Amino acid sequence: MAFSPEERTRYSRQLNLAGFGGLAQNQLRTGRVLVVGCGGLGSPALAYLAAAGTGMLGFVDSDIVELSNLQRQILHSTHDIGRLKVESAETHLRALNPHITLVPHALRLSSENARELFAPYDIILDATDNFEAKYLIADTCAILNKPYVYGGLYEFSGQLLSVIPGQSACLRCLFPERPSTEAVPPTGSTGPLGAIPGVIGSLQAVEAIKYLTRIGSLHTNSLLVYDGLAAEFRSVRAKPNPACASCGSTVPHKE
Ligand SMILES: [Zn+2]
Repeated sequence: MAFSPEERTRYSRQLNLAGFGGLAQNQLRTGRVLVVGCGGLGSPALAYLAAAGTGMLGFVDSDIVELSNLQRQILHSTHDIGRLKVESAETHLRALNPHITLVPHALRLSSENARELFAPYDIILDATDNFEAKYLIADTCAILNKPYVYGGLYEFSGQLLSVIPGQSACLRCLFPERPSTEAVPPTGSTGPLGAIPGVIGSLQAVEAIKYLTRIGSLHTNSLLVYDGLAAEFRSVRAKPNPACASCGSTVPHKE
């Protein structure tokens, strides 16, 4: 399907990009991404995916915008306080790009709705702020054989892992059980520094764009760790665990 003159101008920097071009832009237009969470990670991820021309962009959140969110959740503005985050997100994303389909899901991800919610999408972005949701996303994607990109934040640092079920290590392969609350305190009290989710959420958007357009390589089998204070990225190698409670049955056994 041809792009309109307005779309050609809008996406011209990508259309002119060697290694991207019209073919990749068209794959992006037919792509379907679900972002779970419209907060610190979801804000930059959604904004860049919308701006880039992702054809169908779903987003999940049951929270309302609070004043203390605005330090890092840049999709929302001061006048959005009190609105549902998905409504605020839809308004801002629609203003950013009127050519894409936006699908707000004003609900909390649960084991009852996860499979049905994920089914129509090509790839899932974990932009949540709690381990319960992160493990639910990992387990559901393993069952559905659906790729996802994990993002995590802690104070001045962040993490990223892309997962292709059946081919690469999942969150549970790396961390079989959720960390203790002593090791990692529950979110909602301190941190993260506001720009840290901007870094990780943007990386999640890049991973999703690469997956949909089949360019480059995904950050699989390796946990990317960003240390904001040291201004350093490092990669921690990981491999699929055949005994993984989440994806073990899908991992080819190699003796
Ligand atoms: Zn696994």
